[in-house]
Amino acid sequence: MEKPLQFDVIASCSTTRARTRNTYHLGLRPGVELLKKAKGLHNFMGWKRALLTDSGGFQMVSLLHMAEINEQGVNFESPYDGTKSLLTPEKSIQIQNAIGADIIMQLDDVVPTTSKDNERMEEATYRTTRWLDRCLSAHERPNEQNIFPIVQGGLIEHLRKLSANLHLERKVNGYAIGGLSGGEAKEDFWKMVFLSTQMLPGDKPKYVMGVGFAVDLVICCALGADMFDCVFPTRTARFGCALTSSGQISLRHKKFRMDFGPIEKNCSCSTCKTYTRAYIHQIVTSEAVSCNLLSVHNLNYQMQLMKGIRESIKVNKFPEFVQQFMINMYPNKNYPQWCIDALQSLNKTLELKNLLRHKLKPIHFILESTMMYKQFWYPLLFMVMVLKNEIKV
Ligand SMILES: [Zn+2]
Repeated sequence: MEKPLQFDVIASCSTTRARTRNTYHLGLRPGVELLKKAKGLHNFMGWKRALLTDSGGFQMVSLLHMAEINEQGVNFESPYDGTKSLLTPEKSIQIQNAIGADIIMQLDDVVPTTSKDNERMEEATYRTTRWLDRCLSAHERPNEQNIFPIVQGGLIEHLRKLSANLHLERKVNGYAIGGLSGGEAKEDFWKMVFLSTQMLPGDKPKYVMGVGFAVDLVICCALGADMFDCVFPTRTARFGCALTSSGQISLRHKKFRMDFGPIEKNCSCSTCKTYTRAYIHQIVTSEAVSCNLLSVHNLNYQMQLMKGIRESIKVNKFPEFVQQFMINMYPNKNYPQWCIDALQSLNKTLELKNLLRHKLKPIHFILESTMMYKQFWYPLLFMVMVLKNEIKV
């Protein structure tokens, strides 16, 4: 059931140009040899559009109890059979070369942003650059695959700047901003995103890893980010939750028992065209298919959100888009302070409350860079297809 669903969800969307797979899992299963024989993952999955693979670095955070990190790499214990395997920067690139994704990620040393160990954070920041150089040296398909360095440094401003500066010295075609979305305060989160996007070149894509909440996507786009990935749309679907323009709803709630409307009016997804809230409520706690129905809707919601951002940028109406998005999401005008601060930081004359009260002034900051490479991957929404590959943490 799961594999055709993955295919259908992606292929039915006219806006998505990429999705992610996970190197660590693909490295273990189905394995490098099989992927080589299949002539790469594009061929293996019958997927003709762009692919992005992660390096396995994220697993250091999510599976840390099974990992030991040193200069050589990361010692993992396979969650499948308990066997030990060493993931080095070279090995990560070797696997990603075999997978053949268009964008591949360097192996990075990830420390949770909530860590108070500044010494460890500094070590990880420098090590990430050393590992970047090892990844670049090991890369055997530089004309076909782009390695994105990952800016690290936790929430420590000078380390973020240092990391960005070190990476800027390398010849690459795009950058990732990593180590965020790990439970830090939103006030810290947006500042680190902004600090990073300001330092990175305007004409190259900037990918904020692990971001998936709708409001985060909109604000991060305003801050100059272009690409995102997150398990959120499918993970929240497994808990019976649907994403809508006015926020998240839980179909488990009994108030939906007699609600015969779709999850969201005017939604173009197959779930909303076919099923009612009442029906999904009825099956949400008993039928696994409800996760698939909600996943279809949630992925479509996010793709439409990103499409709306892209379209509004193209016609220079992004501020209006932000305005409408915030009104829909926060009808009581209880806008999160961090959103107000983030938008205000972009333009001192701009305040979200004013922005929503008066006609909008032009906002000059927005995604100038995005327009420059729209023919390639501007702002892409990378869907982490978790249905088979995500490890539940
Ligand atoms: Zn829908």
